[in-house]
Amino acid sequence: KDKLGAGWNLDNSYARLPQTFYTSQGAVPVHSPELVILNESLAASLGLNAEALNSKEGAAIFAGNEIPPGAEPLAQAYAGHQFGNFNMLGDGRALLLGEQITPQGERVDIQLKGSGRTPYSRGGDGRAAIGPMLREYIISEAMEALGIPTTRSLAVVTTGESIIRETERPGAILTRVASSHIRVATFQYAARWGTVEELRALADYTLERHFPDIPLDHNRYLNFLREVIKRQASLIAKWQNVGFIHGVMNTDNMAISGETIDYGPCAFMDAYNPATVFSSIDTQGRYAYGNQPYIAGWNLARLAETLLPLLHDNEDVAIQIAQDAISQFSEQYHHEWLSGMRAKLGLLTEEDEDETLMKDLLELMEKQSADFTNTFLALTFDKWENSNLNEAPEFAEWNERWKARLGRQSESKEAVEQLMKSSNPAVIPRNHRVEEALERAENDGDYSVMNQLLAVLRKPYAHTPEQEEYATLPTTCDPSYRTFCGT
Ligand code: AMP
Ligand code: MG
Ligand code: MG
Repeated sequence: KDKLGAGWNLDNSYARLPQTFYTSQGAVPVHSPELVILNESLAASLGLNAEALNSKEGAAIFAGNEIPPGAEPLAQAYAGHQFGNFNMLGDGRALLLGEQITPQGERVDIQLKGSGRTPYSRGGDGRAAIGPMLREYIISEAMEALGIPTTRSLAVVTTGESIIRETERPGAILTRVASSHIRVATFQYAARWGTVEELRALADYTLERHFPDIPLDHNRYLNFLREVIKRQASLIAKWQNVGFIHGVMNTDNMAISGETIDYGPCAFMDAYNPATVFSSIDTQGRYAYGNQPYIAGWNLARLAETLLPLLHDNEDVAIQIAQDAISQFSEQYHHEWLSGMRAKLGLLTEEDEDETLMKDLLELMEKQSADFTNTFLALTFDKWENSNLNEAPEFAEWNERWKARLGRQSESKEAVEQLMKSSNPAVIPRNHRVEEALERAENDGDYSVMNQLLAVLRKPYAHTPEQEEYATLPTTCDPSYRTFCGT
């Protein structure tokens, strides 16, 4: 059946959930699919044959024009909070083909994003433009290289059709790979419109898929909640430690697996400021950098609410159990953040004053509008051409305290440097670099800039001389840089 010899090994276990969770449907065919980028190393790790997929037939599959063997395309239903408002949602422009079972026996979702209208499209056209799909490709692959749990990008095809946004844009479809697409909003959908048995079916399915170590006893739903909380605490701390701003932390964009999902208006912070927002629609700053931990906690409370009927027969007892679990989030997040920051500062031991040292540094960085990434690089290598932090009058005093702190641990200078090098990236996907790559790809069909950027982003902790030019900031900083959702 696998005519191409592409290595498909698909099964759609999600389709065995109760019918309420999805709608089976095929992709809407597109006019003339053309493969513009294929992630060969990811393909190989999934047991897929990149050479076979790098073809007309491969493009047809990534466009939804051909269905690979074993696929059972469906649109997933979900319902969640967008900027605090509860809405019925669902895959309005995406289809889950099924799960590829990898040579290691893992199951990963293969999803087409931009594949046409579904029953959940509401007013949307079901399509995606080339720029945002390539943007998701670049940033998700950069996140992976940074060691941050994330969905991956396998391929982008252009469709040969135009779509209407602010202007006409070339249409494109991204093939997204995720350990699953089960979201907080999937549980909200089940709790709001499903029966308790349907909710239980979803929870049991999720347990089996993502938490095989949780024993299937009467405590399993509480342990599930605790584990999701733990994974999110770790994830958000990692975002904060690299200056990643997700931009649209709606509950449909929080994956139960603990992976970063849905790269829309996300961007990396340049100058350190907790109020940083890039998303054009986030006018209140709900999803600002500094708010991300609080929003994650808020979203997790929404998840906990959905599980109440499974936590205890007595609702009051269930609420108490859920609240106890949720109250762990901020402490766990704080712990993860602290240990990430310790590593960034080369601290291998723990002292009570470490947090004050960090907060004083961040305060200075904010006052100086110091570049987040470059300041930690400057501290790592004691080279200050790309950070202005050392120009702050208070810096000398802070630096002395930090050096004294480093002196109080017995670890070698080399160990400290090694830790800092592996905790402070040399490159992040800087907005001006990403825009340049997208512009060349979209306007000139020239993918060389994007491929070069991807190559550099693949090894953020290598600290090679070629990466140094990626640390330079744009000559004119654009304070009005904005990103967009749903494009
Ligand atoms: P997002 O902001 O990407 O999380 O999307 C929110 C919701 O809008 C999801 O249910 C999407 O499937 C849906 N959506 C986004 N863009 C489109 C589109 N162009 N057509 C149909 N649905 C869309
Ligand atoms: Mg979404
Ligand atoms: Mg999106």
